[in-house]
Amino acid sequence: MKIAVLGAGTYGSYVINSLIEKYPKSEITLFDVGDKHVKSEEEIGFFSSLKKSMYKGLTDGRYFGFGGASDKWGGQLLTYTDNDFAHPDDFMRDVIRLDKKSKDEMLSKFNIENKFPENNVSDKLFTKTGVWLSALHRNFFHWFKINKRKQVRILSHCRVVKLDSKDGKTIDAVVYKENGEEKHQSFDFYFLTAGAFESVRILLSSGLTKSDKVYFSDHLSQKVFKVKETTKIGNEDYVFRMRGTSLITKRMIGEVDDCSFYIHPVFNLKFPFFESVKEVLFKHHFEWKYVWNIFKDIPNVIGFAWAVLVLRRMYVMNNEWFLYIDIENPSKDNYVMLSAKTDKFGVPGLDVYYEAGKDAEAIFIKAKDIAIEHLNACGSDYEVLAEKINVQTCEDIYHPYGMFDFRNVEDYYSRWSNMLVVTTGCLSRSGGINPTASMLPVVDDFISEYLSTKLC
Ligand SMILES: Cc1cc2nc3c(=O)[nH]c(=O)nc-3n(C[C@H](O)[C@H](O)[C@H](O)COP(=O)(O)OP(=O)(O)OC[C@H]3O[C@@H](n4cnc5c(N)ncnc54)[C@H](O)[C@@H]3O)c2cc1C
Repeated sequence: MKIAVLGAGTYGSYVINSLIEKYPKSEITLFDVGDKHVKSEEEIGFFSSLKKSMYKGLTDGRYFGFGGASDKWGGQLLTYTDNDFAHPDDFMRDVIRLDKKSKDEMLSKFNIENKFPENNVSDKLFTKTGVWLSALHRNFFHWFKINKRKQVRILSHCRVVKLDSKDGKTIDAVVYKENGEEKHQSFDFYFLTAGAFESVRILLSSGLTKSDKVYFSDHLSQKVFKVKETTKIGNEDYVFRMRGTSLITKRMIGEVDDCSFYIHPVFNLKFPFFESVKEVLFKHHFEWKYVWNIFKDIPNVIGFAWAVLVLRRMYVMNNEWFLYIDIENPSKDNYVMLSAKTDKFGVPGLDVYYEAGKDAEAIFIKAKDIAIEHLNACGSDYEVLAEKINVQTCEDIYHPYGMFDFRNVEDYYSRWSNMLVVTTGCLSRSGGINPTASMLPVVDDFISEYLSTKLC
């Protein structure tokens, strides 16, 4: 069976590992626009423009090359349970079912275990504990040793530009550009794993979407509280803990008017040394000024080292920390479409339209009130930093979702007869989590239960 994987990033690498586990004899061709040097949108030469938009997910949240965004990400692997949504649609209900069924098996592929229970801390909030990938092994392409798999032929510097399909249902060939030359190759099955926005750009360019606009949403985030003295709220301790080189973190999740929100702790906001550590660990970016940051604030650096190396927990500078509230942007009006402008490869870029929904502020205020109610009930010492929440100034957290309208997973698996699109964009809600890992049990279910029926 000849399979094409279009994109060597987070999902592409996971897909290949699962394919080889199930079908050790598969012949896989992996296309990637980049190589082992992971690049940003500007560096690789893709184009996106912001029309009426505050969304920087394409310019600042996309990475290209082996491992894709997993080369730079936090690596927090979270999945859904029945607690996440009061009224999930059928697709999300299926995702929840598969997450519950296969979470442990999926996490074991990363040598991770997460048996932490979710606790109801009030009638409106529950906790979810996250286990992160080891700080030293975040890149899925390297973790799954994709370049050492004999079943995989890697075509680097090959930009997939579109898919040929006569009937809109079956993919006849992948069209890609190599050294400026357009080429075609045909396969039995295709996994489209080029990242949420580029996958959509490829579908738009191929006439494989229902309209010339693809709608999406994402989280909106804002710093809301400063908490003092203790990292405990009630019986729950929100300080990050270390397990090996991995982090264990905790958040509170709730829902108002079928819109999810999560309240999560952030530490050491004004601690230059900590910022330097994050830059080096997550972004693999080093500057000499980071060394100077050690000497600028020796007492806090010693406290940090003691907390991390001896106490195995996050240091809390000045005994103060912050709570952010992130909500699902309750807007159905945000979309991408093909741009009139072409990029370095001579193919159309994307225009991005994105605003906070008109109900966003009301949702934020309700979420904030739920948080205050809980902080008061627990007798916490806190300060409200954002009285009136101005959602226009929110920083974005990039978890695009809601790009498709799959009725359920059967519909998802069969939308195209010989292709599966794998991105967080397939989720109709992203809830109160960073949702990348929630799709992995779905991928495994497709490969183990459905792929063979497609190839008959
Ligand atoms: C800083 C940061 C931190 C994050 N932290 C977390 C977290 O802790 N937990 C979490 O769940 N999520 C997190 N995310 C989100 C997460 O990184 C993404 O959801 C996930 O990486 C998406 O995977 P993907 O395979 O769709 O895209 P990518 O991993 O970006 O892979 C896309 C791949 O396709 C290739 N490609 C692109 N276009 C083409 C083309 N036309 N032809 C050929 N190849 C192409 C690219 O080179 C790349 O290798 C974070 C994101 C960022 C930016």
